[in-house]
Amino acid sequence: MNPDEIPDNWDAPQRILVILAHPDDPEFFCGGTIARWTLAGHQVAYCLLTCGDKGTKDRSLTSAALCSLRQEEQRAAAAILGVHDVRFLDYPDGYLVPDMNLRKEITRVIRQEQPDILVTCDPTNLYVRETYLNHPDHRAAGQATLDAVFPAARDHLYFIELWRDEQLEPHIVREVWISLPRDPDVSVDITDHWDLKLRALSEHRSQIGDRAQLEERMRSRHTPDSSLEKPRYEEYFKRLVLE
Ligand SMILES: [Zn+2]
Repeated sequence: MNPDEIPDNWDAPQRILVILAHPDDPEFFCGGTIARWTLAGHQVAYCLLTCGDKGTKDRSLTSAALCSLRQEEQRAAAAILGVHDVRFLDYPDGYLVPDMNLRKEITRVIRQEQPDILVTCDPTNLYVRETYLNHPDHRAAGQATLDAVFPAARDHLYFIELWRDEQLEPHIVREVWISLPRDPDVSVDITDHWDLKLRALSEHRSQIGDRAQLEERMRSRHTPDSSLEKPRYEEYFKRLVLE
């Protein structure tokens, strides 16, 4: 591929902020790309809107215990991918709605982190490959995050208390990368980062069940133009370059 056509061929280190709903979303949706970016010298931070406190079938686990377990798992997974900071906004798992309060909290994080590139997920994606429904939290996270990028993070009079009382300057995000997209227009080759993605995913022990089965299932997701013997892997995005 012509280097000009490689979408993440930025000529300087970028500040990248990943805002998603649950622990394990970053690794499942775009873990290979995150590894590729940190290894290329870009600085990646995560903001998870919930701690995934409903994601279990274990009836002996309380939401509070699951929350701290999943935060630990998320920090371990992020460390494997070279992510420098992980924060949680502690909204209840499963109840996320893109209201003004969530938009304001995300706006605060964007103004604090000042990312060049922001990664979130697709609020219009109702189902994936006709085989499963997209989690409503994923749609809510994508909607609230896009609404925070524009116009709330950009203009000081939105949530004026952030600027007036917390001295948080307005911020313009240059690119938005939408993971789990309904209509992808960018594919990132993550073949060289596949093992790191799997290692990071396997840190989410409360979610993945048997690790060998996970690896087998994941390995079958090679690109159609490659084979199990010589696989190539990609992650897909909708990329917006904002003016
Ligand atoms: Zn999720």
